[in-house]
Amino acid sequence: MPENSLAVDIHLHSTHSCDAKSTIDEMCQTALERGLQVVCFTEHIDWNPKDEGLNYYRYDNHAWDIHLAQQKYAGQLQVLQGVEVSEPHLYPKEFEQLLKNRFDFVLGSVHYVGASWVGGKEMLDAWPIDGCLADRTDLRVILR
Ligand SMILES: [Zn+2]
Repeated sequence: MPENSLAVDIHLHSTHSCDAKSTIDEMCQTALERGLQVVCFTEHIDWNPKDEGLNYYRYDNHAWDIHLAQQKYAGQLQVLQGVEVSEPHLYPKEFEQLLKNRFDFVLGSVHYVGASWVGGKEMLDAWPIDGCLADRTDLRVILR
């Protein structure tokens, strides 16, 4: 790694998101093995009634696991608490309420356009993406 650089991943999902299977502790172990210095767990916040993640997130449980990881990995890995909020512009009251909690990082995402999920066949057919570096719809980096 180049001098004066920092290895970070600030877009991670743990079991505090409905679609992830690894715990924060497991992911911190892997982050250390891979030489990361900073990780931020940006768990999904979804208010779209169609989304499987609706009402899944629990701030206090997440904060507790972050706290435990911060203690366990102190001096080795900086562990941050974040959220990835889907369509915050469509749910201003819920978003305002959420922001009363303390977060290190808040990531805004678009997972639905109208009634369509952005990773669905209908959307991908309508909006083909060439040159993707990542397979995940919320992490695509487009080379054009
Ligand atoms: Zn994500």
